[in-house]
Amino acid sequence: MLVLQELTEVIGRLVDSDTSTLADAESIVTLHRQLARLDAVVTTATAAFDSSGDWAADGAQSCAAWLATRTRLPKRAVRRRIRIGRQLRHLPVVERSWLAGDLAEPQVAAVAELRNDATEEALQRDEEFIVEQGKTLRFQDFSRVLAYWTQRADPGGAEDRAEAQRQDRDAYLDESFGGMWFGKQMFDPISGAIVAGEVERLYDELFKADWEEARERLGRDPSVNDLRRTPGQRRADTFVEMAIRSASMLPTSRRPRPLFTVMVGYETLHGPICELAQGTVLSPGSLVPWLTAAVIERAVFSPPNRVDVSERTRLFTGGTRRSVQVRDRRCSHPYCDRRAEICEVDHILPYFAGGATTQENGRLLCGFHNRLRNQRPPPEAA
Ligand SMILES: [Zn+2]
Repeated sequence: MLVLQELTEVIGRLVDSDTSTLADAESIVTLHRQLARLDAVVTTATAAFDSSGDWAADGAQSCAAWLATRTRLPKRAVRRRIRIGRQLRHLPVVERSWLAGDLAEPQVAAVAELRNDATEEALQRDEEFIVEQGKTLRFQDFSRVLAYWTQRADPGGAEDRAEAQRQDRDAYLDESFGGMWFGKQMFDPISGAIVAGEVERLYDELFKADWEEARERLGRDPSVNDLRRTPGQRRADTFVEMAIRSASMLPTSRRPRPLFTVMVGYETLHGPICELAQGTVLSPGSLVPWLTAAVIERAVFSPPNRVDVSERTRLFTGGTRRSVQVRDRRCSHPYCDRRAEICEVDHILPYFAGGATTQENGRLLCGFHNRLRNQRPPPEAA
């Protein structure tokens, strides 16, 4: 094929060139885009090869077996490509956008995974909308849109998957060589959020204590290397501290209640929305066992991005702060995704310049970007 010869030559020229001349921002984006397009071509061609059955001539039992031998790629990788290639036949908008370089393999794979008997029809109807989201949203946000879409298109399937995740929870802690202990944990989204939230809170306490200790010891602001514990050591001590606090808790102590955020009326989707504070989408059914132990927070989005927090008895003064956290969810810097819990609510128009302390003038910034903001204005996202 002439075109393959040309491609090989062009790639040869790229390989022979000094790649540091491609190391500017624009070239990096272009390279990724072209890589995505080539990936799309490889996948559609592979799917055509798969259905042609030509691989059988070598005695291979499947296209995947043939490909794994000829390319020396893991079976997992070749199966993934073939599976996506087969799904593309039913996803013409996705295919077109991938070939154009507007989507890349991870987005395409995520959409292809949505398709089953229960969702087929809805996917055909909504494919254009979904692709539009994939072209504009960061991957994390796109995944969330897909999770909500699945809940609406296949509510039963979403509940089944949530139940399977809950069944898969597992943990062990075993004594091993030399009396050391090894552990592993796997949690469903809600249990994981409860544990991770408390670990994070305690870790933060220990970090502040280490920081104070180092400042006392050195007589100046310490750097991270001056602290007496490494992050791993501090995390281990966090679990020890959790155990000590648990053992010292009185049976009559009130159990703290985990906090779930339920958002309604998010304008992109016009439907019920149910997710944890850090953004994990929950199936409504998975909330049910926790209803008596949880604080359900209801927020209403209405254009443009306005959030009204209701029924929030615990934090009367913090309502505005919370509404910004719920709306932004992450550091609002375009090149950052630190979670709301470790961000500060910052005035867009600074307070000293007359900026109001309102939802509209608030945004989340992590510590790093808060400091950076005071040095220079944030760049616009491309
Ligand atoms: Zn940030």
